[in-house]
Amino acid sequence: MAIVVQKYGGTSVASTERILRAARRVAWKRSQGYDVVVVVSAMGDTTDSLIALAEAINGDAHPSPREMDMLMATGEQVSAALMAMALQRLGVPAVSLTGFQAGFFTDDTHRAARILDVKPDRVRKELEAGRVVVVTGFQGIDAAGDLTTLGRGGSDLTAIALAAALDAEACQIYTDVDGIYTADPRIVPNARRLEEISYEELLEMSSSGAQVMQLRSVEFARQYGVEFEVLSSLSPLPDEGGTEEKKTKVVARVNPQFQRVVTGVAVNSKVARITLLEVPDRPGIAAKLFSAFARNKIVIDDIVQSGGPGATQADISLTVAKDDLDVSLDICREVMQEWPGTQLVYDVDVAKVSIVGSGVASNYGVAATMFTALAERGINIEMITGSEISISCLVRASRAAEAVQAIHEKFGLGDGDQPVAIGTRGGEDAKAGQK
Ligand code: ASP
Ligand code: MG
Repeated sequence: MAIVVQKYGGTSVASTERILRAARRVAWKRSQGYDVVVVVSAMGDTTDSLIALAEAINGDAHPSPREMDMLMATGEQVSAALMAMALQRLGVPAVSLTGFQAGFFTDDTHRAARILDVKPDRVRKELEAGRVVVVTGFQGIDAAGDLTTLGRGGSDLTAIALAAALDAEACQIYTDVDGIYTADPRIVPNARRLEEISYEELLEMSSSGAQVMQLRSVEFARQYGVEFEVLSSLSPLPDEGGTEEKKTKVVARVNPQFQRVVTGVAVNSKVARITLLEVPDRPGIAAKLFSAFARNKIVIDDIVQSGGPGATQADISLTVAKDDLDVSLDICREVMQEWPGTQLVYDVDVAKVSIVGSGVASNYGVAATMFTALAERGINIEMITGSEISISCLVRASRAAEAVQAIHEKFGLGDGDQPVAIGTRGGEDAKAGQK
């Protein structure tokens, strides 16, 4: 029988009622003739509460990463056991398995372990015995036999990796929204649900601030070609008279019928900008600065260096996560000691607004349309960066929502909107990556 992996996130199993409701959805899927494997997150904010307990015990000291994993892995065990019981109560044979029992072997990087291998023999055996298999998300076991966790939001990764290992027919990620939208519907009321989005676009949307799924799991899905669906567990059940479930499919290649130049608009308010002014303009300077960031394991969001032709000095601006700002400033101050005259400024009242779409690089007028939308509202652009499939503008944090609305409207991305006409010059120009 065809296997379907369904993952239910924290909000989908936040209470016993929700667990029972999710169980009915699982039962329905099974009644359609599928072997169902369920991956669950911890109930609601359980993982945060567990971390708070550890902080209360440890004070300022860093808790042992091994013990943190031991602690955090309990959250998923609670929901997995309860989900199995809920299924049994509905008359569906079910069994819960830990990450270890389900065959998740990882390295020993506690709190952010990498999956080395998935050997789901036990899962297969249980399916063959006619049971629904409920697997704890977010956890595995290392070579020493210690529990590990896969990083926050790691249940997504469990589901995707299991779907790959079982060669599942479908992988369904149930959350509290019924898909990926052209923009955050709380900011843009007429944002439209996307029928399909590519891995690349979703990665770009997520790293640009639209948090739907754990980034690592989308990367894993792309690498292994696991297509999946994002759906809402709060939507009507199919056996409650609900029609076909609304969803967004995350795919390798978007069906041309759904393709647009710009797929969505994302905003990231969690960035800070650092600028080094009047840095010496000679080989090795950027290498030195960014090697220092690398040694400190700081992820850089965007980098811009400017300086006219023939200049002896340059300005380097970069954005980092606000949480990394203090460490980042220390790194800059340290490196700058050798560059007299260089000044350091930073700003936390900024937000990054991005357009994402696989057609961004191959169509002309995309950047012009975005910048015009901002100009019409008098919103100043403080830094511009771009990639093959995105253009980002740093704006005042206080204007970020308005910027998203203006851009969304200008491109005509919403429900009932007329998409703006943007040109492609075809073949050669498309390859040249015109913006
Ligand atoms: N419970 C874990 C977390 O909150 C894993 C997950 O929800 O995916 O990060
Ligand atoms: Mg979660």
